[in-house]
Amino acid sequence: MTADFRHFYQKSWAERTAIVASAAQLSPAETALFKTYYYPQHSEIIENYLTDYPLPMGLAVNLVVDDKPVVVPMVTEEPSVIAAASNGAKIVKRAGGFTTTLTKREMVGQIVLEQLSDPEKTAQHIMAHQAELLTVADEAHPSLKKRGGGARQLRTRVLGQGYLSIDLFVDVQAAMGANMLNSMLEAVAKSVGVLTKTNALMSILSNYATASLVKATCQLPVNLLQAGRYSGQLVAQKIASASTVAQLDPYRAATHNKGIMNGIDAVAIATGNDWRALESGIHAYAARDGQYRGISTWTTDGQTLTGTIELPLPVGVVGGSIKINELAQLNQRLLGIKTAPDLAEIMAALGLAQNLAALRALVTTGIQQGHMHLQLKSLALAAGATTAELPTILQQLEQAPQQDLATTQQLITKLRH
Ligand code: NDP
Repeated sequence: MTADFRHFYQKSWAERTAIVASAAQLSPAETALFKTYYYPQHSEIIENYLTDYPLPMGLAVNLVVDDKPVVVPMVTEEPSVIAAASNGAKIVKRAGGFTTTLTKREMVGQIVLEQLSDPEKTAQHIMAHQAELLTVADEAHPSLKKRGGGARQLRTRVLGQGYLSIDLFVDVQAAMGANMLNSMLEAVAKSVGVLTKTNALMSILSNYATASLVKATCQLPVNLLQAGRYSGQLVAQKIASASTVAQLDPYRAATHNKGIMNGIDAVAIATGNDWRALESGIHAYAARDGQYRGISTWTTDGQTLTGTIELPLPVGVVGGSIKINELAQLNQRLLGIKTAPDLAEIMAALGLAQNLAALRALVTTGIQQGHMHLQLKSLALAAGATTAELPTILQQLEQAPQQDLATTQQLITKLRH
């Protein structure tokens, strides 16, 4: 695409879309797509705004968290994710649902000092001034303290090679807290500079949110897991084995965790939360002992299957773009949540439900049987099938030797003649 994109950020929305349309030689119908999904206020959220990008939103059902039934809005483009979450939740619901624990919810940020000749001594000096540095942090965002939150503690970590990290822990109340924490860190960094006569290399929130851990567990009689010709006891054993493999092998762990994130990301998007922040924190936590592992575990004693997930979930119910995202606010109401811990607990439980359904399918019939039906539906729609044509096309596609776009288009053409 060759065009003059200089000063693009200064152009009006109409000018931007005209530039893009001309550069990419878009048809009027293609250019009209920008208008279809255009929300003028969204040019206040991101830079060089053109349009919104729609993603499907659906509802996972059957989840019971701490004795409360919840429905969970999920935004995802991937077929099967919502079905799997609802399916896993349904199995656990029969055994009483998920139990969650969240002991504390603080965000951590770091001020990094470099080229220190004696980092241990600097660390001691900083800790001797902890109280006044916490006051500096609170004064940088006083409304947080008024709400019951604020700076809680400092910690120092000698990183080696002359680097020192000064970690600031903050109770960010109902927000995710990245921006609030960054303002506090910059203020503290100035005071640290005066105290240590050095300039900080950087001061920034850490997404490794180890002080925002949430745990969800479930326990179910193995008979609830029976699938086709597989007894419940056998399925439980195979799920426990799959869990062991995810602890032993990073290749498997990555996919194990991706399945969990299918659910967690979808809720993060539906509630206006920063899913990149969650992804980075959760994967870092999955590698906390030096090897990347599955973030959930499943064990069985032959009678019961026990599942546990523990992960950092620093989510917010205010802040960021939540206040200007009407659907994010509506989704909080659908979830029936009032606080950030409420949301984090539901997300942890949903992740475990998602994981149970995936593992159960994987160790029995295989993931493709259920998944492919939905994938074929997407394929048929992409090939131009109408809703009325879908049942016939799907039936024919399932028996077709090749399940690709060309075959699907041929089937549609044949149906219409
Ligand atoms: P904001 O900057 O929007 O700050 C939170 C806002 O919520 C404040 O304006 C605060 O008001 C208001 N608020 C209202 N009620 C409450 C309450 N009960 N508790 C806490 N705050 C309340 O958002 P965050 O600081 O949460 O930062 C999140 C954003 O930062 C996300 O968009 C994220 O993508 C982004 N981000 C992420 C980074 C990362 O992950 N590394 C880095 C930088 C940004 P008041 O001002 O009165 O206190």
